[in-house]
Amino acid sequence: MAKVKTHYEDCDVLVVGGGMAGTGATFEARHWGRDLKIICVEKANIDRSGAVAQGLYAINCYMGMQWDENQPEDHVRYARNDLMGLVREDLGYDMARHVDSAVHMFDEWGLPMMKDEKTGRYLREGKWQIMIHGESYKPIVAEAAKKSADKIYNRIMVTHLLMDEEKENRVGGAVGFNMRTGDYHVFRAKTVIVAAGGASHIFKPRAVGEGMGRTWYAPWSNGSAYALPIAVGAKMTQMENRIVLCRFKDGYGPVGAYFLHLKTYTQNANGENYEKKWYDQTKELVGEYIDHHPTPTCLRNHAFIQETIAGRGPIQMVTTEAFQDPHLETVGWENFLGMTVGQAVVWASQNIDPKYTNPELTTSEPYVMGSHATCSGAWVSGPEDLSPPEYFWGYNRMLTVDGLFGAGDTVGGSAHKFSSGSFTEGRLAAKAAVKYIQDQKAENIKVTDKQCEDFKEVIYKPLENYTVGQNEITGGTVSPSYILPIQGLQRLQRIMDEYVGGIATNYMTNGNMLKRGLELLEWLQEDLENVGAEDYHQLMRAWELKHRALTSQCVTEHTMFREETRWPGYYYRGDHMKLDDENWHCLTLSRRDPKTGKFTMEKAPVYHIVDEKEKKEAS
Ligand SMILES: Cc1cc2nc3c(=O)[nH]c(=O)nc-3n(C[C@H](O)[C@H](O)[C@H](O)COP(=O)(O)OP(=O)(O)OC[C@H]3O[C@@H](n4cnc5c(N)ncnc54)[C@H](O)[C@@H]3O)c2cc1C
Repeated sequence: MAKVKTHYEDCDVLVVGGGMAGTGATFEARHWGRDLKIICVEKANIDRSGAVAQGLYAINCYMGMQWDENQPEDHVRYARNDLMGLVREDLGYDMARHVDSAVHMFDEWGLPMMKDEKTGRYLREGKWQIMIHGESYKPIVAEAAKKSADKIYNRIMVTHLLMDEEKENRVGGAVGFNMRTGDYHVFRAKTVIVAAGGASHIFKPRAVGEGMGRTWYAPWSNGSAYALPIAVGAKMTQMENRIVLCRFKDGYGPVGAYFLHLKTYTQNANGENYEKKWYDQTKELVGEYIDHHPTPTCLRNHAFIQETIAGRGPIQMVTTEAFQDPHLETVGWENFLGMTVGQAVVWASQNIDPKYTNPELTTSEPYVMGSHATCSGAWVSGPEDLSPPEYFWGYNRMLTVDGLFGAGDTVGGSAHKFSSGSFTEGRLAAKAAVKYIQDQKAENIKVTDKQCEDFKEVIYKPLENYTVGQNEITGGTVSPSYILPIQGLQRLQRIMDEYVGGIATNYMTNGNMLKRGLELLEWLQEDLENVGAEDYHQLMRAWELKHRALTSQCVTEHTMFREETRWPGYYYRGDHMKLDDENWHCLTLSRRDPKTGKFTMEKAPVYHIVDEKEKKEAS
């Protein structure tokens, strides 16, 4: 420990995580804060980090306002419908009104965009998606961030936020360590923008054993975006709203382009269209939501899951028709090559040629995130011109901790942002963070050396646990004194899987299961004090695990609080099987007291901003 070198860096804007939102934030912070010191800290290397590391085949959020294809109101209606009524419409609208300009910058920066030969417009894959040759997507946005930042720190995992010791509930920076050198890094900052991605691998994945680590969302998304703010007492919202994806089996390959572009469809093992069969049963559970168009994603999952439970699986994607067209066949394969090469490899290894065999689909384990078709995350202020008083406290995208901002997966309540919307939200957060500094709100922040030294002690403890404990065993990995990160991870995944609505129970849980889950999670937290790390890489794994465990506690508390089944197909509360608009047409909020570790829960109103004005005017 004594050998660990400490580096101090003082800055104005600190961006934690250099993925889509983080690169957007870093870029925009420089635009508004010409003289400010802007630092971006990234766990991997921003050239290939985050959920877009390998590239994408489509930008999933583009309005096309210049051609009047869609307006922000349309996107709000779409997200609201998909999330069964519950979104922060102010945040969604704000993102949607700015997202096109971000996409136009990607185009200017050299991202190869597909164009419709006849109209010259971006080639649409669906109502919101435009197609790209996206292998270079991440390096392109990373370059913009690199040109904007004073410094980018790669390979540093941020483990804790620093707090101001002068003024309560104000952020003071962040600390972490370099997993290559082991050095300790202290970033004292006037504002912090957390953009550290979503949470995969908190529920036991379908891929275990030789397939371990394979997952749909990025395996390195370990919930830091949630754990960092939760630990300092920031309020979180909709953390129960995990997402389950319908994907090609074993490789988690995406299905969107197949449905939208190749016009493929699904069937059960008997070749039947099963979705219609579940209409009446679903109507019983959720009422008129099943009649909405498009059918909310969770309800389509519901039919899939129930059909499988009824014993009529496997569910297949019918590709054999579309793949007879050589152009569509190429598109089908390219869809994986630019985004999920692994699926093509899985098919090759299983002798599946989709031209002749209809491949199997599956429903994934649940994930937690704020930017995809779900909206878990931090409770943030909206923009001044749109947000009702309960949603506005001074600075756009600021959390309930002063000076702490969020974007992308970090931010709750605003689903369907995807890559472009996350980048856009990073820009919005950075603009507000700069204003916060310019308004003199970040004066006289005090972060003592003691606070930094205390964290140093805590951060490197897993190395010490291992070094001391390893002498007690002569071989193997089972120690009486420490648990390894992989052992802790597997325990966490089992708890979440079996008690909080994972695949083991077909996404079913109830109050008693959740209570037991919380108990087990608390004991896991105790044991994580004794996690052992044999090197700096394992130290990263240890901290990833701790962040996942804290995120999981929050997810479980939220799931316990919401006594209804709002999103059948994502999870079911067996003791409250129906959607209950009378009592639960609201957002859920949690706050963990940093001193006691106890969560408190409350409800927050859902304001339907879009259409409400029209309704009032009409009445
Ligand atoms: C499989 C898959 C397919 C997708 N398909 C599409 C698509 O087709 N079109 C589309 O538009 N969008 C798609 N998305 C969504 C899009 O990728 C995300 O919405 C977007 O990347 C979220 O941005 P973010 O900045 O919040 O997270 P990320 O881009 O994941 O960035 C988070 C960053 O934080 C870093 N980080 C994490 N923890 C720490 C820490 N403790 N310290 C320091 N750094 C940390 C990570 O390394 C990462 O670089 C897809 C996502 C996935 C996973």
